[in-house]
Amino acid sequence: MKAKELLAEIRPSWLQRVSYSLTRGTNLRGVFIQQLERFFDGLEQAVTTGNPAWLDSILYEWTGSPTLTDLQQQKNNVADLLNKIISITNDVAIENLSEQDALDLLTTITPIYTYALEKTARLEMEARVLYISNELIEMQQKLERLDRSKSNFISVAAHELKTPLTLIEGYAAMMRDLVTQNGSGQIDTLLSGVNTGIWRLRQIIDDMIDVSLIDNHLLSLNMQPLWLSHLFDLLKRDLNDILRERQQILDVRAFPGSELWIYADSERLYQALYNVLTNAIKYTPDKGRISIDGRTLPGFIEVIVTDTGIGISPENQAAIFEKFGQLGRANLHSSGKTKFKGGGPGLGLPITRGIIEAHGGTIWVESDGCDEEKCPGSTFHILIPARSEPTDPKVAKLFGKLEKAKPEPDGQENPPADTSAA
Ligand code: ADP
Repeated sequence: MKAKELLAEIRPSWLQRVSYSLTRGTNLRGVFIQQLERFFDGLEQAVTTGNPAWLDSILYEWTGSPTLTDLQQQKNNVADLLNKIISITNDVAIENLSEQDALDLLTTITPIYTYALEKTARLEMEARVLYISNELIEMQQKLERLDRSKSNFISVAAHELKTPLTLIEGYAAMMRDLVTQNGSGQIDTLLSGVNTGIWRLRQIIDDMIDVSLIDNHLLSLNMQPLWLSHLFDLLKRDLNDILRERQQILDVRAFPGSELWIYADSERLYQALYNVLTNAIKYTPDKGRISIDGRTLPGFIEVIVTDTGIGISPENQAAIFEKFGQLGRANLHSSGKTKFKGGGPGLGLPITRGIIEAHGGTIWVESDGCDEEKCPGSTFHILIPARSEPTDPKVAKLFGKLEKAKPEPDGQENPPADTSAA
């Protein structure tokens, strides 16, 4: 018998065996059987014409859609599949044909299978090379973006540092003039101007140091027992003047999680919440309302800060937490050129995110968009792990003492954690 007829004879068993063994445990048999029929048609054509290229189209198809995981793990899925098909073909031929017919058939199709294996190996290699070169192009584009945002960052930072420096220089020159002209009359006012400039410079430099600590995973936390409600009280007190100046209301709502003892770094958590709240004040018009609310979730406390400010456009909602990424145009920073753009160098939220993530939490924002007229507002969600157990045995001992000192629900006592630093 001719090889073509022998092939036709084993077709039903071949289809059944290959489809069964390659799709076991999945529900792909229906789809796969059509593919196998096409493969077998190609094989029959290759045997009839002596030209193995009849298998090309199906091999292109099979190697043309590798999954990302296959590419990353450098798997040769189609080559593996072909090897299984070859081994099943051998079994099926031996089981269904006489010894001589099986030998004839296998002798005819072995070179065709060899061709198919080589072709597949080449196609899979090409797909991987394409994937790697695309990855390289993407990485290069990322580096270029990073490079651009870094130089943008340097320009903003330089601009930020220059503003208070100019202030200090101006006041110092005026003091010099005053002293030479007529003694010390207005020196006090001028000195307070110098102090403001120095304070602002220190703030910016501290922020830069924090960013670098976070970047290098060196932010260490001083975990202490605390109540969030206590932090909220401190924040409300410390922001009182600016709130009054802006005629804004800060509405702190009591929620069960705010009364729980949790372990966190109170200074760093204060700093994170302070950043979110001062932003809310900054980007909300006068007479606006800011609220702090929250809820308990399994293992976490969610703090929700909502404002009635200008909002944040969807495309910027992730970028504002990125270092370098969120900086607008340098000339809009601290220059008061536009109504709501008097912010800092844009390090506040990346630091906030770094602090929250160092605690094992997460932060994100929701807003219907940015509109300085309609003011759709923004809502910041902060998830803080509700750790009730200290990890350090020394802290555990302290925690035992603190538990005893814990006030009644309506008590006036504050937690002994040091939360005073702003
Ligand atoms: P900045 O020092 O510029 O305020 P942040 O990192 O604190 O830097 O905030 C980054 C940017 O996120 C801000 O410049 C502002 O555009 C936007 N933003 C932050 N909070 C708010 C908010 N509550 N409402 C509107 N925009 C906000």
